[in-house]
Amino acid sequence: LRCCSSNGSGEKERTLGIIKPDGLSENAANFYAEHSSKPFFTNLIKYMTSGPVLVMILEKEDAVIHWRELIGPTDAGKAKITHPQSLRAMCGVDIEKNCVHGSDSHQSAQREIAFFFKEAPSAFKTEAVRKHDEL
Ligand code: UDP
Repeated sequence: LRCCSSNGSGEKERTLGIIKPDGLSENAANFYAEHSSKPFFTNLIKYMTSGPVLVMILEKEDAVIHWRELIGPTDAGKAKITHPQSLRAMCGVDIEKNCVHGSDSHQSAQREIAFFFKEAPSAFKTEAVRKHDEL
């Protein structure tokens, strides 16, 4: 888009934007690009775009491993038996609908955080996000 005619007053205005469903499914496909050749890929993208998601940055010492421990194994069905206290056991259904995501390594976490938060206007960034940007 070429921007814009302006009255030059410097006053802020608001506009409305909507990411439509096809925009979200493109995002989900990019986020899970590493699984694009897997047989479950199409269903995974349908699942990931079937409703709103809440994306968050969690910060503490060894956050990656601790969050992975808390969410439990990929297969929520099996987790109900082997890890009944895990989040996936409590809110997930099966190997696809497992209700939560957790980065699998420090490198993945950096890439995935940047995927969602890197472009956010700095005024809206929390201290935690700013710290990550500086890494
Ligand atoms: N998934 C699936 N079928 C499978 C394996 C994975 O639908 O056989 C989905 C599931 O939602 C999982 C996501 O694909 O969380 C990413 O898979 P990954 O192997 O990275 O598991 P995770 O790291 O999420 O435990």
